[in-house]
Order: sequence, then C-alpha cells, then structure tokens
Amino acid sequence: MKKMLCLAAVALIAAGCHKQTNQPINYNVDKFYDLEVLRYDVPDFQSLSLQQKKLVYYLTEAALQGRDILYDQNCKYNLAIRRALESIYVNYPDKQDPQYLLMEKYLKRVWFSNGIHHHYNEDKFLPEFTEDWFRSAWQYVDSATTQLYGHCLNNLVPVIFDPNILPKKVNQADGVDLLATSACNYYQGLTQNEAEAWYAAHKDNSDEPLWIGLNAQLVKDEQGNIVERTYKVGGLYGPALEKVVYWLEKAKEVAETDRQKEVIEKLIEYNRTGNLKTFNEYAIAWVQDLDSRVDFINGFTEVYGDPLGITGAWEAMVNFKNIEATKRTEILAQNTQWFEDNSPTAKEYKKEQVKGVSAKVINAAILGGDSYPSTPIGINLPNANWIRKEYGSKSVTIQNITDAYDKAAQGNGFNEEFMLSDNEIQMSRKYGAITDNCHTDLHECLGHGSGKLLPGVTKDDLKEHGSTIEEARADLFGLYYIADPKMVELGIMPDKEAYKAEYYRQMMNGAMTQLVRIELGKDLEEAHMRNRQLIANWVLAHVNPEAPEVEIVAIPVAKEKNSHDTPAELKHYMRVNDYEGLRNLYGQLLAIIQQVTSTGDYAMAKQLVETYAVKIDPVLHREMLARYERLNLAPYKGFVNPVYTPVTDKEGNITDIRIDFTEGYAEQHLRYSRDYSPLPTWN
Ligand code: ZN
Repeated sequence: MKKMLCLAAVALIAAGCHKQTNQPINYNVDKFYDLEVLRYDVPDFQSLSLQQKKLVYYLTEAALQGRDILYDQNCKYNLAIRRALESIYVNYPDKQDPQYLLMEKYLKRVWFSNGIHHHYNEDKFLPEFTEDWFRSAWQYVDSATTQLYGHCLNNLVPVIFDPNILPKKVNQADGVDLLATSACNYYQGLTQNEAEAWYAAHKDNSDEPLWIGLNAQLVKDEQGNIVERTYKVGGLYGPALEKVVYWLEKAKEVAETDRQKEVIEKLIEYNRTGNLKTFNEYAIAWVQDLDSRVDFINGFTEVYGDPLGITGAWEAMVNFKNIEATKRTEILAQNTQWFEDNSPTAKEYKKEQVKGVSAKVINAAILGGDSYPSTPIGINLPNANWIRKEYGSKSVTIQNITDAYDKAAQGNGFNEEFMLSDNEIQMSRKYGAITDNCHTDLHECLGHGSGKLLPGVTKDDLKEHGSTIEEARADLFGLYYIADPKMVELGIMPDKEAYKAEYYRQMMNGAMTQLVRIELGKDLEEAHMRNRQLIANWVLAHVNPEAPEVEIVAIPVAKEKNSHDTPAELKHYMRVNDYEGLRNLYGQLLAIIQQVTSTGDYAMAKQLVETYAVKIDPVLHREMLARYERLNLAPYKGFVNPVYTPVTDKEGNITDIRIDFTEGYAEQHLRYSRDYSPLPTWN
C-alpha cells in the first residue's frame, strides 16, 4: 500500500539538517500539461560505507531494468508507441517544426505516465499533433525498429488518435465489464466473469495462502482454455527479469547482513521460478530484515493498476534509512499497542496483540517502475494480510521526496489562494511540514496495520471499493491520532495546536482543492483521491447543523487587490469552527470504516464510496479549476533520478560510487530507453 502526496504542498522546509552536496540542486526540472518534473536530493549518501554504496548501486541497476515491464502492463501498445516516438524525437530533422514540438510534449507525457494513459486519472490523453504529420514522420522511425514492428503504423494510429479506442487504463465504473473497458494488459481475451470465476476456483484457502494471480497475465488461449502467463525468467517479461536477476546477484554479494542476503536470494529464486510460495518466503524474510540500513522494493507489488485488484504492477525503489528522522517513527512503533487499544473503533475489531510494526524514515536513492516518475511519499508492505498478521509489516516515510515537494512549492501562491485567512496560512507555514510527515508516519506504520478482520472475512470482500476503504481507514487513523495529547507527550508533535494545520489541509484538500487534478465533468477514480473526498464529504454531511464544526463558506473577494472598480468575486473556502469537534467526527467515521473492513460489509462500502467519494459538485469544481489555473501550477509532480556512476581503480575494482544531479528529463528517459530496455515490443 502506498500513500500519495496531498495536493496542498506546504511552504516550509522540513526540519532536520543534511550535508549539502557540492552543486546546488535545481529542484524544478520541467513542466508540461498538468505535470511538473522535480529533482530530489539524496542526503547522507556520502555517509554510507563503500559496501553500502555498492549495494545501492547494484540495486538501482536492478530497479531500472524493469521499466519496460510497467509500460507493457499498462497497455500492450505502450512500448511500440514509446519506441516509435523516441525514434522520431531523435531523428526528425526539423526540431523547430511546430508539429514536432507538439509531439515532444506528447512524448514527455508518455514518459511521465509510463504509457498513453494519464498516470493518475487513467484516461487516455490525445496528441495535439496531426495524424497526417505522424504518418509522414514515420519515415524517421529507424529501420531496425520498423522491421521489429511489422505493420504497426496502421495499428498504432487509431490507438493514439481515436478517443474511443482504449479510452481508460483502469475502469472501475459500476455495471460494465471491467476487463473489456480497461486498456491495461493484465488480461487477454476473457470477460470479467470468466476471470473472477477462474480466481474463485483457484483461490488458496489455506492458512498461508498463495496470492494467486499476483505475477501473471490471465489469458484465454485459442482452445478456449484460461491459462496464466507467469512473469518470470523464461516466461512473460523474461528478458527484463533476467537482467533484474543479474544485478540482484551482484547485490547479494555485498548484502549488509545474512538476513538481507537471504531476502535477495529468495527474490532471485522467485524471479526465476515465478513460484508464489517462494514469494511468500521472500516477503517474510523482507519484513524481518530490520537491521540493514539499505533496503529496496523490486517486483510485482501494488494492485491498483488491475481492475480486479489482483495482479501486481512492477515497481522498484532503493532507499536507505534516515537515521535522525527514524527516531520519530520508532517512538510510534514502540507504542503501537497503546494506539490500537485507545482507538475509537469497536473492541471486537481491534487486534489483541499488534505484531512488529516497524517504521522508518528513508531517503529514496532511485525510483523505478510504478514509482517513477510519479512516486508515493509513504509505503507499507507486504500487502498479504496473513503475513502482516503473523510477521508484521514494514512502513516507510520517504523524507527526501516530501522535502523536494516542499522546496519546489515554496512561495507558489497556492495556500494564499485557497486558505481562508492568514491564520491558516501561518499555521501551515509553521506546522505543515512536521504534521504532513507525521500523518504519513501514522498512516503507514499504524493505520494500515491496525484493526483485524473477523473470521472468514478477507480483504477481497470489499472488491472494487477495497482500496478506497483501506486508504480511508489508514488516513482516519492518522487524523484521529495526530490530534491526540499522546503525540505531544511522546515528543513527536511540538504542541497541542500543531495538528490543526493537518486538519485544515485535509478538509480543504479532500473536499475542494484536490479537484484541480480532475477534468470538468469527470468523476473521481483513483483510490487515494476517493478516500480523501470520502472523509471530507462525510464529515461535512455529518456536522451539527446548529453549530457546524466545519463548513464551506462563500466569501466575496475583490478580484484585484486595491481595485474598487472590478466587482467582487464569490470564492469558496473551508472554515473549521471547532477542531476538537472535527476530531470527533473523524473518530466516528474511523469506527464505521473499521467495521466495514472487519466485517467485509460490501454493501456499506459501496454506499459510502458512491455517496461521498465519486461524484463532484460541478459548480465548486469549475471554481477550483479557474482559481488554480490563474496560479499557473501543475497539479501532478514526478521526478528525475540522480545518476550513479562507479569509480574504479586500475584493476577495475569499484572504489566509490559517484552521484550526480544534473541529468535532464528527456535525457534521462532516452538513456533509460537505450540502456534499460530489454523487452520485445509485443509481449
Ligand atoms: Zn496507504
């Protein structure tokens, strides 16, 4: 599970010092459409030992080798389109041709989304260059590539230009076949009913169940049999996984501990065999590897990209512990049982004994697959409930990423435009960074790990609403506790006022400002966005009508400062009248959401999501978009990675790993496509 960034970025640099690298880092790299590319620092990399640096380096290579896999998982035409466009991008002679420049913009978007569908709202985006131009530019696709593609120009044109073909990557709308209406490549040739029946028939009901379907495409073959094409060396995506294994083998030799070595060995074995029992062993070893400073994710992990929520998207991240900031989460982890016992959920849904929640603050060293360029700010794994129950889970807050967001957002005018008054702006400036990080800590290390399912209930019972409900549960757990005096007592929150910054932001973002990411007329689709609106809109619907704890107010504001001629514009703002009361409402909803989860109450989950989380008030939406547009900001951010280069002596031994922060966005993607692109175009 992952936590994505809330939109309202704070303007304060997170506390905590780090050694500056020699060159100042340029955090803002590129901007196009609704996307902005940032850079992140990797503080303390130089403080790692040579062995740890080598480990990071080998793992970053393994992280980059899977990039093609995600493109293909997102849509089976993605690799062909990316390769053709890159070829035109490099070979086309007139780099100032307006059509070429529109193609460049489109290609940047393809890179950002790992394909032709928006990385967040799942819709196919259409190019601004013309079909005629594309057909004429096809001659610049290099011959090796065109031969590889066969007749692909005519296949690709409708996929790129026709809005009715493959319009959505992951469809979650009710009442239609989710597989037929989703462009992603997890299923071929079968209906939703057939896939669901297959999964039901193959479900593992043992105490230590295999996650059937996690690492395979499900297809109906020519004889009409439903078979799995397993992602493994020698299987589907074999050429990429072979390279991953090659670098994991090197990483294994410089593992920090025996436990970590075992983790890497298990992952290698799993990549070779596709055996899900080995995957469980790997996940168990991974969650227990707590002593290593360097850690990583590499493989088929989160299931948000599969409309049925079963198959994992390929994802990678290499990271190492931020020792100073980790003290914060260690305190939380030591008090896990207290938080469980005192939460407002019903006793029968609490864990009697919460097991080994480990939590740390990390710095990302590289982002790959589904974590690149857009990346979560917190991760909690593994996803298998029985492993979480028996062995606990590992939870991380990715501090250098949130720091980069903060730095890039300084003084961008967002809070000034959308917050009610100077009071809220000041509060955010003073407490925003600490409360944001702290909410992520609580969400990841306590929220997801809290509560229990009643006997016979599984996480699949909530079906397509499972992710939204789960994220709401973790967010509410964090919101409820961030205001608890215990947090001040533990020394995590600076004082009893600080939580208000996070409360204000959650309400403002959940009900209002996150809408700037959505096109007018569309519904909310993504689980984290749905979760945030569910919470905010449920709260607004359950306030005390006599004296609302929180409300949306309309205030006339002069269009231009010091101008008496222009008429005032009516703007909507979130106003919190009673923060304690708001906490109470969060607590009530947490109890409800926990009950839905613990009992597997699909009907209630559906009702909550459909009532509060999906539909958008068009008037408010239009206003948010208009106000946001005037700020000239991009609502979605992603990153370029640093470049790691080994320094070797005369004998070829690695003596150091150099880190560089100057590579540009297009430069990086072209290099990745050249050096890390092992898959054939059609898989
Ligand atoms: Zn989460």
